[in-house]
Amino acid sequence: MAVSLNNSIQPQNYDYFLVLDFEATCDDEKKITPSEIIEFPVLKINGRTFECESTFHSYVSPTVHPQLTKFCTELTGITQDMVTNQPTLDVVLQRFHTWLQKENLLDPQVKSIFVTCGDWDLKTMLPNQCDYFKFERARYFNEWINIKRPYNEVLGKKQRTGMMEMLHGLNIQHTGRHHSGIDDCRNIAEILKVLAQRGHVFHDSRKK
Ligand code: AMP
Ligand code: MG
Ligand code: MG
Repeated sequence: MAVSLNNSIQPQNYDYFLVLDFEATCDDEKKITPSEIIEFPVLKINGRTFECESTFHSYVSPTVHPQLTKFCTELTGITQDMVTNQPTLDVVLQRFHTWLQKENLLDPQVKSIFVTCGDWDLKTMLPNQCDYFKFERARYFNEWINIKRPYNEVLGKKQRTGMMEMLHGLNIQHTGRHHSGIDDCRNIAEILKVLAQRGHVFHDSRKK
């Protein structure tokens, strides 16, 4: 009789995992200052089934450097047309808040946490841009799981690793385009699911 891998999924400390992966303006050699978010995707992953139940996805119009570089478009697949006339970050943050409300994710009874690949998205990118533009940053952005930590815990590794290495290490087929925010989210969500299927119980990256 085939044994379902799902049998190894343990009760989790969270009802939902919110997988997030920003893309931002960039260039090959020169650093773009300030770098601005151009894609804001979040997947709502059920903490029992590890299936995606809802998606928030918006492209974001950069304002200081409104023209994307050729390098940025080649890296992310995001073309000028995809960001021109899109909302700016302050509007997207409001829409994201409304989505969280609609999905019942702001109910204190419902526990959720962001999941990112690395600490850059919520430790560096969002705080820096909000500080630069003096946008208010909601407190829920202060907690996240950096998927590299549970990966290293489960695999017993300590080396620096990226999304592609983690997919390879877990025998997961990469899907979509690397550096597309929404596709990166889907791949990170697969890593999350496979780690859960291996019996991992996730916790806030700051707590051990
Ligand atoms: P990622 O989530 O790995 O796709 O990267 C997020 C953002 O980091 C990208 O949208 C770029 O702004 C920047 N970035 C990632 N890789 C590179 C790279 N090789 N060169 C320059 N910027 C990069
Ligand atoms: Mg990323
Ligand atoms: Mg990405």
